[in-house]
Amino acid sequence: MTYSISQIAGLFACRAVINNPDARVSHLLSDSRNLLYPAESLFFAINTKTGDGHDYIVQLQKAGVRSFVVERMPDCNPSGCNFLICDDSIEALQQIAAAHRGRFDIPVIGITGSNGKTVVKEWLYQLLSDRYRICRSPKSYNSQIGVPLSLWELDDSSDLGIFEAGISRPGEMSRLSRMIRPTAGIFTNLLAAHDEGFASRQQKLAEKLLLFSSCELLVYRKKYAIEDAVRKINPSVRLVSWELDSDEADISVHLKPSASGCEAQYVFGGESGSCLIPFADEASIEDALHCLAFSLAWGAGRPELSRLEHIGMRLKMLDGIRGCTLIDDSYNSDLNSVAIALDFLHANTEQTGQQRTVILSDVRPGGRIESEVYEQLALMLSSKGVSRLVGIGRGISSHADLFGCRKQFFPSTAAFLADMPDFRDEAILVKAGRSFGFEQIIAALEKKQHETVMEVNLSSLVHNYKLMRSQLRPETKTMAMIKANAYGCGDIEAAKCLTHHHCDYFGVAVTDEGVELRKAGINASIIVMNPEPSCFDRLIEYRLEPEVYSFRLLRQFAEAADRLGASRYPIHIKLDTGMHRLGFLPSEVDSLAAELSGFRSLSVASAFSHLATADDPAGDDFTLAQIRQFEDATARLKELLGYGFIRHILNTAGIWRFPEHQLDMVRMGIGLYGVAPDDKTDIRNIASLKTIILQIKDVKKDETIGYNRRGTLDRDSRIAAIPIGYADGLDRAFGNRRGYALVKGQKAPFIGNICMDVCMIDVTDIADASEGDEVIIFGDDLPISRLAAELGTIPYEILTKVSARVKRVYYNE
Ligand SMILES: *Cc1c(COP(=O)(O)O)cnc(C)c1O
Repeated sequence: MTYSISQIAGLFACRAVINNPDARVSHLLSDSRNLLYPAESLFFAINTKTGDGHDYIVQLQKAGVRSFVVERMPDCNPSGCNFLICDDSIEALQQIAAAHRGRFDIPVIGITGSNGKTVVKEWLYQLLSDRYRICRSPKSYNSQIGVPLSLWELDDSSDLGIFEAGISRPGEMSRLSRMIRPTAGIFTNLLAAHDEGFASRQQKLAEKLLLFSSCELLVYRKKYAIEDAVRKINPSVRLVSWELDSDEADISVHLKPSASGCEAQYVFGGESGSCLIPFADEASIEDALHCLAFSLAWGAGRPELSRLEHIGMRLKMLDGIRGCTLIDDSYNSDLNSVAIALDFLHANTEQTGQQRTVILSDVRPGGRIESEVYEQLALMLSSKGVSRLVGIGRGISSHADLFGCRKQFFPSTAAFLADMPDFRDEAILVKAGRSFGFEQIIAALEKKQHETVMEVNLSSLVHNYKLMRSQLRPETKTMAMIKANAYGCGDIEAAKCLTHHHCDYFGVAVTDEGVELRKAGINASIIVMNPEPSCFDRLIEYRLEPEVYSFRLLRQFAEAADRLGASRYPIHIKLDTGMHRLGFLPSEVDSLAAELSGFRSLSVASAFSHLATADDPAGDDFTLAQIRQFEDATARLKELLGYGFIRHILNTAGIWRFPEHQLDMVRMGIGLYGVAPDDKTDIRNIASLKTIILQIKDVKKDETIGYNRRGTLDRDSRIAAIPIGYADGLDRAFGNRRGYALVKGQKAPFIGNICMDVCMIDVTDIADASEGDEVIIFGDDLPISRLAAELGTIPYEILTKVSARVKRVYYNE
């Protein structure tokens, strides 16, 4: 739908500078990266924490955009362009969307709640799209900006709208509600998510319910007990509730497990019926029952819940064959979702420069004229820089002429697979409606996982953190040591995860590690244990905090801090209480304090020391002596400085063995990464190094294996080659049967010398071992601590040795 620029200017309070009165507006643009239709886009220059939209105006002018909503006149040549100057660009966007919404007298379903909004919206769409031409929010566009952009998609062909609304602060819902004006609503649930912005759960509920202040019908789950709060704001609303096995709810549902999920037997208004739900998890069942209840209450009858499909909330990126990258999005194919996927393709190739290819099925016309849909598709492909199209299906094939790029068409997925074209170094978006069976295309194009990977279980990392945390006083601070790439497990990932769980400090070894963390958005305090003077400027620029262990370092750092105009810059004093590595001796505390008092640019944030032998009961006297010395030295330092600071001395073993000396903070290391003494059975392994069998050979007795013929066979054997070697961090000491890997849970000794990239294992006794099987180097069933003991090294070395070329794969359970 298009508006003239003067119509738009009439929709909200603004001062209009019109230099192009003929300009039309059919698209609203809030992010310059999403530009598709320059001539008919209206750009909203929005000022956020992360950037100012006004900075992109000149660039957009060049790209052909003619109309702008701005908060101040930008510094640019205004000729040929329209500027609508207002106080608040977001409010302008909302007012325009509200006016647009007002033109449609159609049912509109509004959805809010803590969780499940997007799933319920998408499922209602799946259930109702045969009967209605539905306009819905794309993805989870439910924010102050997402909602107006969603509403703008309403046009004369729409006969039903489904929009979700999400809020994080008081005051937001009334704005969303005024825009959406739902005629019917679904309240999904109320959980702790996003509690932070609200004074109480009650306040949050009241705020969310504002969405329904003018609804005729509201569907909800009885257990969330929202009746009273809703009636206060909307006395005439018709409330329909559902609940499991309950006489109180309007719709009572009884669940029976079934082979493919569960069966929902329901009673509503004296009528009973049943539906199959193809899911077994609680969240999906709740979301499906919202859809059931809504359909019944709204008079749309018993829905075909069995047709519901899991919503892939994220497009999946996979490594493809021959240098290709795959973007897998094969769950639906309406134009809306194609646009989102194209954005994703575009955004992910801007840096790599890979050629953009799209393998696309027929697009669902969604009630529109087919040729128009394909015309729009062709425009989208060209504006997103797609250079190659593979169309699969009769619909898209019959519009082949519309597409300007390199193109090929196939009548069916089978025809494509039978005669698959060549792909090389391309980024390929694979996008189809579910009926096209594009999983087969993904399977054909995906690179088989024959790399060696280290899997890192981030849920277990968090578990270990919480477990160690639970042994401390609540007020004790925590520092996670994530030096050396978090002991090889991935420092950015570890820091992101632990930040969520309120870890106070992070410890890295060198400045560059800290800089990478800052660049990845980690805002917590970061201590650099070995701050190199050549990096002081960067260290200060990135707000990293140095460990200071000597007078020389102190003076050098004070000089840098002064030069850069720092004031009371936090530093961390390292005391040497017996490790005799780095640090001031306790006897130096007086002169240290004297020097420190002279440096106005510095302030001691903490003082610490490191235990040399906390894990060894035989050294306990020494450890206690270290702790005593530390306490005395820090007491003296505090007295001389005249201010307090954080004191910390315990590492992982210290936390477990001397928790009474936790002081103000502890430093967690190896325990986080899942290595613990045998009695700490609650600590979970987080890292698994895995590979696969590349090739198996039958080798006769008396033949030899590998370099220098070191692997000798005293029987006819089956020998498997696996793609991991010392360059991946596999210790050569494992060779010649001194170590083993696990295949199908059984021991397969390394045979012969370990080579650089490949090595051999003996699978003679593992009858069903075959090529392609998984091989565990270490993991849940082959603990790093056991390997370390057998090798005569320490777990730290095994973990940190896994080289950078081994891909880390992170997952949450
Ligand atoms: C590495 C390190 C730690 C962590 O030690 P773990 O034994 O892994 O818990 C603690 N403090 C300092 C100063 C460190 O360098």
